[in-house]
Amino acid sequence: MTETMQKETLGFQTEVKQLLHLMIHSLYSNKEIFLRELISNASDACDKLRFESLDKPELMPSQGELSITIDADKDSNTIRISDNGIGMSREEVIENLGTIAKSGTSQFLEQLSGDQKKDAHLIGQFGVGFYSAFIVSKEVEVLTRRAGASEAEGVRWVSKGEGDFTIEAIEKKEPGTTIILHLKADETEFVESYRLQHLIKKYSDHISIPVMMPKAAEPVDDEDSKEATDSDDVTYERINSAKALWIRSKSDVSDDEYKEFYKHVAHDFEEPLMWSHNKVEGKLDYTSLIYIPKRAPFDLWDRDAKRGLKLYVQRVFIMDDAEQFLPRYLRFARGVVDSNDLSLNVSRELLQSDKNVDSMKSALTKRVLDMLEKQSKKAESDYNQFWEAFGQVLKEGIGEDFANKDKIAKLLRFSSTHENTANQEVSLGQYLERMKEGQQNIYFITGESYEAAVSSPHLEVFKEKQIEVLVMTDRIDEWMLSHLSEFDGKKLQDVTKGELEESEFTEEEKQAKETLEKEHASLVERIQNVLGAHVNEVCVTSRLKESPACLVLGEHDMGNQLKQILKAAGQNIPESKPTLEINPLHPLLKRMDAEQDEEKFQTLCDIVHGQAVLAEGGQLKNPASFVKNLNSLLIS
Ligand code: ADP
Ligand code: MG
Repeated sequence: MTETMQKETLGFQTEVKQLLHLMIHSLYSNKEIFLRELISNASDACDKLRFESLDKPELMPSQGELSITIDADKDSNTIRISDNGIGMSREEVIENLGTIAKSGTSQFLEQLSGDQKKDAHLIGQFGVGFYSAFIVSKEVEVLTRRAGASEAEGVRWVSKGEGDFTIEAIEKKEPGTTIILHLKADETEFVESYRLQHLIKKYSDHISIPVMMPKAAEPVDDEDSKEATDSDDVTYERINSAKALWIRSKSDVSDDEYKEFYKHVAHDFEEPLMWSHNKVEGKLDYTSLIYIPKRAPFDLWDRDAKRGLKLYVQRVFIMDDAEQFLPRYLRFARGVVDSNDLSLNVSRELLQSDKNVDSMKSALTKRVLDMLEKQSKKAESDYNQFWEAFGQVLKEGIGEDFANKDKIAKLLRFSSTHENTANQEVSLGQYLERMKEGQQNIYFITGESYEAAVSSPHLEVFKEKQIEVLVMTDRIDEWMLSHLSEFDGKKLQDVTKGELEESEFTEEEKQAKETLEKEHASLVERIQNVLGAHVNEVCVTSRLKESPACLVLGEHDMGNQLKQILKAAGQNIPESKPTLEINPLHPLLKRMDAEQDEEKFQTLCDIVHGQAVLAEGGQLKNPASFVKNLNSLLIS
């Protein structure tokens, strides 16, 4: 006990120091958001208390109502934001206000550029939160007492937002938290009550806990008292409408209100890209309000990061990050779900085995997919922005959600040889619409990058025939395609695999190929004899127009991209030998055909084969020998 009574100075975690520094500079032009953030935290704290009081009713405040109170004092240039919510213990204060628990934070902060505008967006996606208080304050004081703890277990935390903070035990009469902002000398606007009221209405109207301010024009005179006490002669009035926003009917809620509510639930600084608000009545009875953010959070790919909707049961907050209501591939969706069917003492474990939750999950999944589809038709550029941020995550759904595969497939976007840009903006539907008459398949190619893929020799015949080929460069693509063999009755065909569809060729073309095959049967056999160990077969191509040769995989062979991923993960990959297709009209092949010296012929074979490997981004088994062979030809 005595130990915790002492005043201690502790250093911030390095990440906090970095964040504080960056925030104060890059968010200065948005400084008023500190109030929204602190009210948002106070509201969360009240929600948490109400939840804990389900089991322990004695935790509810003695005066009855949960509320947030804001007082400003002109003389001392301070603002106090008090709540009678859950409060914090000493350990919680150190943990919550001295560290950032998200993994990957420091790498994230390092990539910030110092360019204020850009960084503001980046920091925003990170969530600005409590530390935004330091944008306007020279010192921040937090007085708090955990609900259920005794008066003597209050905690006082003070910091100037530089390297450290002090922490000490205090007596605190009521549980809950008071944040005292000692404003910087030039931040006087925020002690004006009309200004504060305006900001509360603008940013925090949707908070379901009442936000109170003194009714009198003059702020409370409490200079002598360090404790936040509501002196009896001050009456307070409620400033916000204090009604859960998702309960209101859609027509009553303005876009601005939806946007501000999003910032509160998602802890995001930016506006959402789209949202969907729905009341469901009948067998199940619940309301959902689901948002899609504009940007991916920096920990989108962190498997351990928390995801999910905020769960309420009959308006009572139950938990954050309830991941049971949406599948993992929709982990970017944020918002609330409020159920009238679940029990108030539902736990994460119970959610996992609840049939109602399963039904809600499949309904909410459809909702999100429908919202995305609607947006893709209504506002293409918003949809493209969504796709850029979250497309790779959505692709996981193709393999994971069999029931919704067709719906998800419609939402996919790819780059394409038709568009001349690496941007992924072409849908499978669009592809079908502009398919050539009689075309059998949806063609695609995978590759490391757009540039590499579109210059692949495999595309030569498609270019000549002006057949569009989708270009897939995301790591997940080959895996996804292994689960998506068809769309709308058309097969998705990798242009580097199997035989080309006969029907894409005219009779004359087929005839010409047969002639070439006959004429070059002996060349094919000679090459086969040399390269037999490396290739499955050698044959005359119908794919190539400019290149001498290319490698073709079997219809069911694993693609190169997937192979590389598995290799990198240390897995054994079944050896499969590709077919070498040669273009006998190419001068190099003509030269080979004429080559009598067997040793020189072998060198040429090695070079043609090596080139084919390189052209599709593969790795040579013996690069040194390839270089030697090439040089021997260059100087001969
Ligand atoms: P976030 O709200 O995104 O979690 P913040 O930086 O806003 O991040 O707040 C950090 C943490 O500090 C909160 O998660 C909460 O645990 C704690 N906290 C902040 N304000 C309060 C408060 N008024 N009452 C209780 N806990 C609080
Ligand atoms: Mg917060």
